[in-house]
Amino acid sequence: MSSRRKFIEKVLGGTIGLTVAPALLRAKSGKNAEGPVVISTWNNVNANRAAWAALASGKPALDAVEEGVKTVEADPKDMSVGYGGRPDRDGHVTLDASIMNAAGDCGSVCFLQDIKHPISVARKVMEDTPHVMLAGAGARQFALENGFQEENLLTPEAEKAWKVWQKEAKYKPIINIENHDTIGMLAMDQQGDLSGACTTSGLAFKMHGRVGDSPIIGAGLFVDNEVGGAVATGMGEAIVKVCGSFLVVELMRQGRTAEEACRAAVERVVKKQKNYEEFQVCFLALRKDGTYGGYALHKGFTYAISTEPEPKITKSSFYLSR
Ligand code: ASP
Repeated sequence: MSSRRKFIEKVLGGTIGLTVAPALLRAKSGKNAEGPVVISTWNNVNANRAAWAALASGKPALDAVEEGVKTVEADPKDMSVGYGGRPDRDGHVTLDASIMNAAGDCGSVCFLQDIKHPISVARKVMEDTPHVMLAGAGARQFALENGFQEENLLTPEAEKAWKVWQKEAKYKPIINIENHDTIGMLAMDQQGDLSGACTTSGLAFKMHGRVGDSPIIGAGLFVDNEVGGAVATGMGEAIVKVCGSFLVVELMRQGRTAEEACRAAVERVVKKQKNYEEFQVCFLALRKDGTYGGYALHKGFTYAISTEPEPKITKSSFYLSR
């Protein structure tokens, strides 16, 4: 039997049949995929290509999401993630990241400075410590002790943006910053197992010490290998307040499609937060049956899908029509 066929049978007839409510199998789904899948927030096609290459070579979804998001962490042109990220209001680049595997293990780092690949530090926290999250100086010390190099992450472009911002020094969230904020990525590998990763430099010019949703398991990222995974981007405070990614996964557990679950999570934000028109919130989800979808509060959210080597960018549906 071909590995692709085995993959489909395992997902549709095997594991999922035993562990997921029948409603999930019956749920209508917009977009079907019959093989490995990678989805990621915004238009990070190179990240998807790297993740796809990992899956195609037989690596597990965990390696795929780590390798995928690392391409964005290393890219100085992406000013919302890793090296080249915009600094906080005091001029420091501080990074948040989280990772979660099919077994439900997870690791994260927050307020991490001087280390280019927070996602790999988060993975090390997951695999080599008894903890889930390390913060600030402790996370940095752990990274250095584990062979990560200390690097200046503030690029001349990011420093310039900070100096321009300092003229007015007003903290105001910008909706869809240049269309490439946090990268959140979900992957299903050839065995049908799911993993997810999320990494960011957070909101530009935030207060020193501010941590967003991305390193908070259940907020910026959640994966349950019986059901599916979800990631978030946008105003972290709003996402944390509704436990956004956990909420999306739980709604999929109840039988919603990926897009329906993401929409319901956005509607929860709207219901609970009066100033919802002032910020963007976006969710992206992948179900155990290989279907996926996203939903945003404002227009402008896009996501990259790989069900074959070349990724496609899709525009997300959104709540606010203007
Ligand atoms: N969610 C990120 C944070 O609040 C930022 C973003 O996705 O734009 O840190």
